[in-house]
Amino acid sequence: MEMTPMAACSHTEFQADVAVTRLEDAPGWYMVDVRVQCAHCLRPLQFRGLPLGLDLHGVAMAPDGLELRAATTMQGVRGFGFRQGESQ
Ligand SMILES: [Zn+2]
Repeated sequence: MEMTPMAACSHTEFQADVAVTRLEDAPGWYMVDVRVQCAHCLRPLQFRGLPLGLDLHGVAMAPDGLELRAATTMQGVRGFGFRQGESQ
């Protein structure tokens, strides 16, 4: 796809990068990191209104707002299952 200069772009199509990381200290839990950018000019979307940093029990965003970080489980898994503070 041909890249459009950012100033001339009307941002009509987007592409997302998704990374899923297994949380070593929380069996059955995964962190999903999402970044979205315009498919034409590559300008990123900036997430809004979420806590900054990392929330192992919910959703947060990178300090610059360019990455959404969501704690997830497989469908049907209940409870947290965290072993925070324990060493392995
Ligand atoms: Zn664009």
